[in-house]
Amino acid sequence: MRAASDIRVEGSEIVPPAELAAEWSRVRTRLQNEVGEVEYRTWLRQLSLGGADGDEVTVLLPTRFLRDWVRSHYGDRLSALWQSENNRVRRVDIRVGQGVQPLAPSVAPPHSTAPADITALTDNAGVAIPSAVDGLDDKNEGRGDGIVLDPRYTFDTFVVGKPNEFAFACASRVADQPSSPGFNPLFLYGGVGLGKTHLMHAVAWKLQTSRRAGAPAVSVAYMSAEKFMYKFIAAIRNQSTIEFKDNLRSVDVLMIDDLQFLIGKDNTQEEFFHTFNALVDAGKQIVVSADKSPSDLSGLEDRLRTRLGCGMVADLHATTFELRISILEAKAAKASVSVPPRVLEFLAHKITSNIRELEGALNRLVAHSALFQRPITLETTQEVLHDILRAHDRRVTIEEIQRKVAEHYNIRLTDMASARRARNVARPRQVAMFLAKQLTSRSLPEIGRKFGNRDHTTVMHAVSRVSGLMEGDSAFAEDVELLRRMLES
Ligand code: ADP
Ligand code: MG
Repeated sequence: MRAASDIRVEGSEIVPPAELAAEWSRVRTRLQNEVGEVEYRTWLRQLSLGGADGDEVTVLLPTRFLRDWVRSHYGDRLSALWQSENNRVRRVDIRVGQGVQPLAPSVAPPHSTAPADITALTDNAGVAIPSAVDGLDDKNEGRGDGIVLDPRYTFDTFVVGKPNEFAFACASRVADQPSSPGFNPLFLYGGVGLGKTHLMHAVAWKLQTSRRAGAPAVSVAYMSAEKFMYKFIAAIRNQSTIEFKDNLRSVDVLMIDDLQFLIGKDNTQEEFFHTFNALVDAGKQIVVSADKSPSDLSGLEDRLRTRLGCGMVADLHATTFELRISILEAKAAKASVSVPPRVLEFLAHKITSNIRELEGALNRLVAHSALFQRPITLETTQEVLHDILRAHDRRVTIEEIQRKVAEHYNIRLTDMASARRARNVARPRQVAMFLAKQLTSRSLPEIGRKFGNRDHTTVMHAVSRVSGLMEGDSAFAEDVELLRRMLES
């Protein structure tokens, strides 16, 4: 690692103070959490801190291509996040250069930086809730201290399907008519990357738009539970808890994202409970998201869990293949790129964990195709997304495939790697190679190696032979399909 005094940004020597480094580490973590692992690794991992000059912060990337891409895709976001960490920062400049490496290769989880966060917050003038409410007035980014609304997260861009239609309907209802009986509080829950934050932002944006359209003014405060805690702690330190409470209780709609963060934070939970009660009693709307249902959020106080479950509880379910396809189609259309249906199906089949990862994979494909001016095909997809696909392999290993296929055809496992060419052995071996190609993201040479060091052309031949046979022989096709389903389940 270079010494801090070595860092030069276009001639001027800038030594980033520890405070700046701490801010950078938090901005980085938040960005990483927002964009997901795939996107982060593709574009942002090499970002490093350059320095600060007045109200401008500089971050560096090693190449012009990366700089341009990050500028146009993440520039605004980076600035908004930094401003929410430190409101004196006006601009984040992204340049080409080498800077300080991150303090630790994998950035520490947000809550482990609590002391630094609290310092940063106390640096901000007073309690921030009023500006959080005002933040929604900002033109494109709902930005203020503690509030960062993503302009991409609206109802329009939210693709609705079976797994999320109920949550979507509830969120729309609350955005149109806050504080409707039966919908207060609205509790949205679901696993990582399934659209909770997207829906929360959409509600906040909608409330703001209806306000512009002449509806009565609705003041909204949106923040993560983590931010809620930092603000609360800062208020205690500044002896401004009364102001903190008053400010929070003056809003019409309070939205708290990722409530599970409050587990184990007893004092903050207590404060949230009182705020919650005061607002609900005053007929104000609360919207909360969490990764589990109220009854499963063990570690939250019982009385809070009970109250959270009193209104409308809506679940964002794991995605289905159909929803994944619709989302990919929508995102491809938005990016104005043509992606062959086969590729979309392939992605929807392989990346099932969450929507963020799916989005990240598509973005990488699109960028790659633009950069190298190559059309997107199944082959380029497999090549470009090699590492992701491997991580998302359905954990079917070639060994497992060999075992199942050998069992099914009643041959010895060792024959998968043997040189025997008798049809009753060679055919099952070909089937196993075919399934290895279909169900794992191993390359042809890798598959060949696992089958007694065979050449990749042998594997290629096996794959085309088996597909050919499947077309002509329906009993054989059914057999292979059956094996595939067994391995996939
Ligand atoms: P969560 O908060 O549940 O972890 P997010 O709301 O951050 O998930 O969603 C992760 C990413 O997936 C975001 O970029 C979001 O826009 C996208 N996303 C999630 N659900 C949908 C959907 N139904 N339609 C379009 N994009 C979606
Ligand atoms: Mg979220």
